[in-house]
Amino acid sequence: MADCGLFGIYGHKNAAELAYLGLYSLQHRGQESAGIVVSDQMTLRQHKGMGLVTDVFSDSATLSELVGNLAVGHTRYSTTGSPLPGNIQPLLVNCKGGPLAVAHNGNLVNANALRRRMEQEGSLFQTSMDSETIVHLTARSQKRNLLDRMVEALAQVKGAYSILAIARDKIIAIRDPYGFRPLCLGRLGDAWLVSSESCALDIIGGEYFRDVEPGEIVILKENGLSSFQAFDSSRHAFCIFEYIYFSRPDSKIFAKNVDKARRGLGKELAVEHPAQADIIISVPDSSNTAALGYSEASGINFELGLIRNHYIGRTFIEPRSEIRDLMVRIKFNPVAGVLKGKRVVVVEDSIVRGTTMRNLAGLIRQAGAKEVHVRVSCPPVRFPCYYGIDFQTEDELIASSKTVEQIRKFLNVDSLGYLSLDGMVRAMAGSPGEYCVACFTGDYPVKPEEKVEKVSLEKM
Ligand code: SF4
Repeated sequence: MADCGLFGIYGHKNAAELAYLGLYSLQHRGQESAGIVVSDQMTLRQHKGMGLVTDVFSDSATLSELVGNLAVGHTRYSTTGSPLPGNIQPLLVNCKGGPLAVAHNGNLVNANALRRRMEQEGSLFQTSMDSETIVHLTARSQKRNLLDRMVEALAQVKGAYSILAIARDKIIAIRDPYGFRPLCLGRLGDAWLVSSESCALDIIGGEYFRDVEPGEIVILKENGLSSFQAFDSSRHAFCIFEYIYFSRPDSKIFAKNVDKARRGLGKELAVEHPAQADIIISVPDSSNTAALGYSEASGINFELGLIRNHYIGRTFIEPRSEIRDLMVRIKFNPVAGVLKGKRVVVVEDSIVRGTTMRNLAGLIRQAGAKEVHVRVSCPPVRFPCYYGIDFQTEDELIASSKTVEQIRKFLNVDSLGYLSLDGMVRAMAGSPGEYCVACFTGDYPVKPEEKVEKVSLEKM
């Protein structure tokens, strides 16, 4: 699948409405499509569609038809499987033992091989998503109950998966043995919550309970929560990019506060790459917190030098090429009164292709900045991610073929500094072995057996 948002609720009469609000707060994890499946203990009902959560559930009647006290929702950001209506999750199927819907966050690295084998054996796949592999493997298992069938299925897949599955009477939450993608449990009165990020628990008035542990399977049923360690989890590989860029700063993931981690990255960056400057600015919103950390450690004032337009939807029509350069200005407009005559440090969370940063640096200069210094709160991204973050080929990564000095020239800035790998891990105050850092080092915790199909690259 991809890096997506998952939200589940067990034991609440307004399950669908609360799932909708939960998904709304996870919108940053996927804007391509959204879906909710509910159960009233007998029947599973679903509503899914392309677009933002508010587009898909634009009619309150839709939610009121989703009757049931358990629900699972998904927001999708595809990196495998085309952006098609048939690929919207949760994926609802009828298999032995009753209906089952599965929502997946992460990418499997051996899904194509498994799929080819099953297709040769007669399986008919309905979507192009790697997540469907898990559903087929579960359906084909000869084990007696759903949990055993899921365990047998997951023992065959490799890669990143946080999963929420809903059956008539239960929700099952699962994290892969490496724990690539986050998944946490929460409480809302007597109801149980499960979410990719804790911000969704806060939004509906819930409380963080604990993380689903790597390799753990949690079952939410009428008799409460039960869980077991399904897979050996001796090596963890929490995606460090969730802290750098992807998760919301008001979330707690991998049992750590994202805001705190991101500030730490900014502080470490200021120590490693100081700059003689008048102001610090961020590229809103994702680097705001790292820029505050840099400002705090350097003693240089943080200013709002770029204003972001939040109202650009995914359906925004790209203008003709001659005015395409205006696109970056439509998204970010420089504040001339802040930038004019100043030596500016721009803190960015990461640089993938470099084109956005180059355009922004140009705009900042046009607005009158005397000097532009770029500081990046992670090391150069040189290798593709096979576990769900959307940079999948080396060709699209500027740092895979250019040195830092060559990138500086490409960006046309006065100086450029990236946080070191050691500095990044130090800022996390964790052990280096705890995180996946493969996109910086090429050391993949789970070897990609085959390259995943490239679909899109939103962040440039
Ligand atoms: S390769 Fe990078 S983006 Fe992908 S899971 Fe590892 S740290 Fe995250």
